[in-house]
Amino acid sequence: MPSSNEQPTAPLSSGAPSAVTVLGLGPMGRALADAFLAAGIRTTVWNRTPGKDRELVTRGALSAAAAEEAVAAAELIVVCVVNYDAVDAVLRRDAVTEALKGRTVVNLTADTPARAREAADWADRHGIRYLDGAIMTPTTTIGTPDAVFLHSGPRELYEQHLPVLEALGGTHTHLGTEISRAAAHDIALLDIFWTAMAGYAHALAVARAEGISGRELAPFAKGIAAILPPIFEETAAEMDDGTFSGEGNPLTSAASTMTHIVHASEEHGIDAGVMRAAEGWARRTIGLGHGTEGFTRIAEVLGRH
Ligand code: NDP
Repeated sequence: MPSSNEQPTAPLSSGAPSAVTVLGLGPMGRALADAFLAAGIRTTVWNRTPGKDRELVTRGALSAAAAEEAVAAAELIVVCVVNYDAVDAVLRRDAVTEALKGRTVVNLTADTPARAREAADWADRHGIRYLDGAIMTPTTTIGTPDAVFLHSGPRELYEQHLPVLEALGGTHTHLGTEISRAAAHDIALLDIFWTAMAGYAHALAVARAEGISGRELAPFAKGIAAILPPIFEETAAEMDDGTFSGEGNPLTSAASTMTHIVHASEEHGIDAGVMRAAEGWARRTIGLGHGTEGFTRIAEVLGRH
């Protein structure tokens, strides 16, 4: 039987099941379990490597010795591990799969849309109800209004479990019944994040080579970040409408700026591979006759097969 030092107190007010199991206690899994506990939900936890639940148990979590035992403790199972290979390693053991039959898995692990579809097919074949999700904000936001959760899968299943999921705080958005929608949004949004972070890391290196400290650059870097939201909005509409206005900043001008960055980096012996790749897309798009158009014509060209 799961063990705990203390039972959670305040039960949920809605008719939703007020118990949840969290599989995976990395930083994110622990944050999720903590938020469930704070909301007074009976929370059972399990992690591959024992010992990660110590603090949670002192806060009232029930510690399961095996994943199948954790699964048996609640109708709603939240899984949050490093990737879907790890999800498979946890869920696709006979005893666990058997225990999951008739229960609901909400998979908040990040991976590709194809893996989400494959996981849903597997769940369906084994009589397991399945929702896929993505967490778009860091652990510190969990349980606060700043958390952002994306979900996809059967709407009535989502609505049934939303009252418990809302204990995780922030906003929850159901993106549709197509199971891979959350993972597809996650990939696109992380593409923005990591490409931006790569750009920032590169900028810090080039700035340092020119004697500019990180602290000196940061206020101006924040200014650059701040001009992006309206650009995202406008160019997204251009992408959807297929019109790429280069008025004010044609692609030829953007490519020229990118070439300066490549040169300045390489003069310092700093790898400019990321910028060279982006400049290459711009030059290719110009070569296709789109030099007077806007930067996001590149997105349309990249998407051609
Ligand atoms: P990790 O991505 O490092 O995942 C760690 C967890 O995965 C641990 O519970 C670990 O178990 C488990 N795990 C890894 N391999 C296996 C395996 N083969 N079998 C079973 N369990 C395994 O840390 P996070 O908790 O931060 O992230 C979890 C998910 O949340 C990831 O998909 C991540 O992308 C996503 N996420 C995380 C955010 C963050 O800020 N941390 C933000 C948004 C999303 P063990 O302890 O035994 O190694």
